[in-house]
Amino acid sequence: MKLLYAEDEAAMAEAVTDVLTYHHYLVDYVANGEEALAYARAGDYDGIILDVMLPRLDGMTVLETLRQAGDHTPVLLLTAKGAVEDRIRGLDLGADDYLVKPFAMGELLARIRAMLRRREDYTPTVLSFGDLCLDQGTYRLSCGEQGETLPRMEYRLMEVLLRNQGIFLSSEDLLVKVWGYDAEVEVGTVWVHLSALRKRLTALGSHVALKAKRGVGYTLEVRE
Ligand code: CA
Repeated sequence: MKLLYAEDEAAMAEAVTDVLTYHHYLVDYVANGEEALAYARAGDYDGIILDVMLPRLDGMTVLETLRQAGDHTPVLLLTAKGAVEDRIRGLDLGADDYLVKPFAMGELLARIRAMLRRREDYTPTVLSFGDLCLDQGTYRLSCGEQGETLPRMEYRLMEVLLRNQGIFLSSEDLLVKVWGYDAEVEVGTVWVHLSALRKRLTALGSHVALKAKRGVGYTLEVRE
């Protein structure tokens, strides 16, 4: 996970950067608002930690400029104690969360994790394997120029298979992962959907096939 961190207080910036790096985040650190904006525009960040009080360009202006340009990278604002209006304004401008200074490192890490999790939940991305692409925003499964929108449960099944590449999942695994623990669905339903998916892969002319191993389960594989 790659983070941009904008903070002008050097000692604080160093301490936070050390902690984030220790927790395996890649961190680009900048000390003023102009740089923050330039980096945010140029880089592909999973999240931005943005101090409100920054020289040259304040954090609010950086946030506002990014959002107006259609950049939806999650932003965690660092606001001064007592500056309640900053927090409200920040959220109005499209910040995902805020943290009041001074904060404990554990709190910062928890907020960052939550921010990145939300991004995973809400940002549609494309899962791919072999010549297949599955768009999580539109449910479209495509192979080259060919493609079609999958029915909901078939989409969920494909998504689970794509997220578990190289792993055999049993019918029971798939039932739980796709339909959930509480679902009143028989294992036969899983087989019906697997069969539909198999036909779809053939119809798309994909080199990806659904491989079944007796007594073990199912996985996707690329056929030569
Ligand atoms: Ca500051």
